[in-house]
Amino acid sequence: MKPSETPITFIGLGLMGVPMVNNLLKAGFTVTGFDLNAEVAEKFSGQQNFKFSKTPTEAVSDASVTIFMLPDSSIIDGVLWGRAGQEGIATHLKKGSYLLDMSSASPVSSRDNNQKLKELGIKYLDAPVSGGVKKAIDATLSIIVGGLAEDYEKTYALLEFMGKSITHVGAAGAAHAVKALNNYISAAGLIAVSESLIAAEKFGLDTHVVNKVFNASTGKNNTTENKVENFMLNEAFNSGFSLALMSKDVQIALKFIKDMECYSDLAQQCVKTSEEANQSLGKGADHTAVFKYVKSFQ
Ligand code: NAD
Repeated sequence: MKPSETPITFIGLGLMGVPMVNNLLKAGFTVTGFDLNAEVAEKFSGQQNFKFSKTPTEAVSDASVTIFMLPDSSIIDGVLWGRAGQEGIATHLKKGSYLLDMSSASPVSSRDNNQKLKELGIKYLDAPVSGGVKKAIDATLSIIVGGLAEDYEKTYALLEFMGKSITHVGAAGAAHAVKALNNYISAAGLIAVSESLIAAEKFGLDTHVVNKVFNASTGKNNTTENKVENFMLNEAFNSGFSLALMSKDVQIALKFIKDMECYSDLAQQCVKTSEEANQSLGKGADHTAVFKYVKSFQ
């Protein structure tokens, strides 16, 4: 996929979408963007190879690859197949083109979308990412891919401009399943670390020292390594990944674990804590603010 021969359309220019598009532009791709919030276009002012489209259907008409970086499956389905007052893009996608859904979404919806798009002659891959805004900026995201092996191989060179570790995990929908499970594990770690640090503080311990011990011991995880000092103990709560999105991810994981008829007690508790924290902290809260929520029970 040579940048000069591969026009890309990118839908969903939020916290993750903007840096990912910047990396594609840096690599020499021409990108047409669309977002419900037209103000995001300003973030690309002066970028010659970027054009903001007024409608999603117009945005995709010339694309060899259309990329989604949208909040969730209900929004993805609305953009693809249409909803009240808005035409879907599916029938406007070029035959033989690729749709890469890089959002975090429901594996079942993704499998359905793959089937319906196949009938329209569109090649579908779910390609969710892990790593957050910092890794999106550095183009060092972990990208998990589901879909046909030949489509994965064809798009690998494009994904490499956005990520570092790129892994094909199975058929369409598989990557969205793995991504949700990953984020459930991460959320469980966040909640466990929050509870532990707050209890340690109440016992009179220095939480910075306690976290240092975790990082040198078996309790080490992504929260202890990257979140405690940068976003939690300093009460910045600004990692760039919202609590609403974390809550969505753990719900997808719980549904998946239940659908597989597996033990799910911890996942259920994670969903409960995430949802209650989300409601209590309100719209826009960062996921690291779970620490603040847990602390409020002291
Ligand atoms: P965000 O809320 O910052 O961005 C989403 C964007 O989608 C917004 O700009 C919004 O206006 C746009 N949008 C919503 N509905 C739309 C529609 N119908 N048509 C066009 N645009 C629409 O979210 P984000 O943090 O960038 O996350 C995007 C996806 O990536 C989510 O699925 C999230 O779970 C996943 N993700 C996020 C992170 C992170 O650290 N933020 C990390 C990994 C994965």
